[in-house]
Amino acid sequence: MTVQQKLEILADAAKYDASCASSGAKRAGNGQGVGHSDGNGICHSYTPDGRCVSLLKLLLTNFCTYDCVFCVNRVSSDIRRARFTPEEIVTLTLDFYKRNYIEGLFLSSGIIQSPDYTMEQLIAVAKTLRSVHHFGGYIHIKAIPGCAQRLVDEAGLYADRLSANIELPTQQDLVQLAPEKKSAVIETTMTQIHERKQEADEDRARFHSAPKFAPAGQSTQMVIGATPSTDREIITRASGLYTSYKLRRVYYTGFSPYPEADTRLPLRASPMIREHRLYQADWLMRHYGFAADEITTETEPELDLAVDPKLGWARRNPEFFPVDVNAAPRETLLRVPGLGYRNVDRILSIRRYHRLGIEDLRKLHVRLKDAANYLIAADHLPSVPNLLGDVATTVTSATQPPAQQMGLFEEAGRSALWGAL
Ligand code: SF4
Repeated sequence: MTVQQKLEILADAAKYDASCASSGAKRAGNGQGVGHSDGNGICHSYTPDGRCVSLLKLLLTNFCTYDCVFCVNRVSSDIRRARFTPEEIVTLTLDFYKRNYIEGLFLSSGIIQSPDYTMEQLIAVAKTLRSVHHFGGYIHIKAIPGCAQRLVDEAGLYADRLSANIELPTQQDLVQLAPEKKSAVIETTMTQIHERKQEADEDRARFHSAPKFAPAGQSTQMVIGATPSTDREIITRASGLYTSYKLRRVYYTGFSPYPEADTRLPLRASPMIREHRLYQADWLMRHYGFAADEITTETEPELDLAVDPKLGWARRNPEFFPVDVNAAPRETLLRVPGLGYRNVDRILSIRRYHRLGIEDLRKLHVRLKDAANYLIAADHLPSVPNLLGDVATTVTSATQPPAQQMGLFEEAGRSALWGAL
């Protein structure tokens, strides 16, 4: 099998891992111009400083000795198999990097022989890139649950990010669909990464020359919709992982059925909007101070797919509103639907000099369609019945801000348009 054929199989197999979000575009060159993109294995991810980077996204192999029912690479799956050698991946990464196609590598693998052996193969790629070729690009590798602590320690010296996949929301789900996987084993690997990173960070605070360990932290991935686990269970699980292991991200992948799938799996794909609502709920926990048990209720454990979860919470808690944008503390403003956390910080900064009215909020690109029902501004008071509805009422006409304030709002508004919302 040529490297190109392996690349087609193993880049395609890697697309099911959601830890970096999008695959590359396909564009055929005409043989006269420069450049040819065949869409194999380029994805995008975000570095800790917010830059979007292109990554070569590959599996070392799609052979796997495990039989996770939801996974296309499971041992009982009838698919074309391939395996790269570590040297082939190193060469591919360097070639793609030198041609400026990519800025880093995302490498995962099926489990071959044992977790230790698989992890050693993944480490060999990262170690060769860093130590032999002095590769300075981004490297994200999978931590294989159950591998030895010494391998986790070594992997973090070469990788920017490590991720051990939790796979499914509950241990019961794993028993049902991934019998070889155990929550306790996966969480042991997460603990090892977390503790080793903490130690390394403390060492570096004292001695700048101490080696870094997985500077971009750890993440995980959860398949949703393959079992009947509720959104409440999924969000609670994610919240526990953030708290216990200081994960940077939990990624949610909606289950997609495939031909001749196991009868234990649902026949329908999980709707995309569910994945989207879970990411919104996740965002609320990480950036808006919401606890997992506030986002859904015991009696309604599923997210309302028709409504943003923040708006859903506001509708269930009308006694919390309206909130005065000119007086409320940050944690209260963060609860207003339509107010993003960056806009909350802008409001806190601007209101030291100026009482904000509706026009000011509009200039900041606040989503007034949602927010106006829930906030008080200098010239605006919502009518009480609207707290449960959608139509806002402005009681007084907008007051123009003084001329010297315009620059301030325009500047904030412009940065809001650049995607900071
Ligand atoms: S261990 Fe990973 S690659 Fe192997 S079957 Fe399970 S999910 Fe798929």
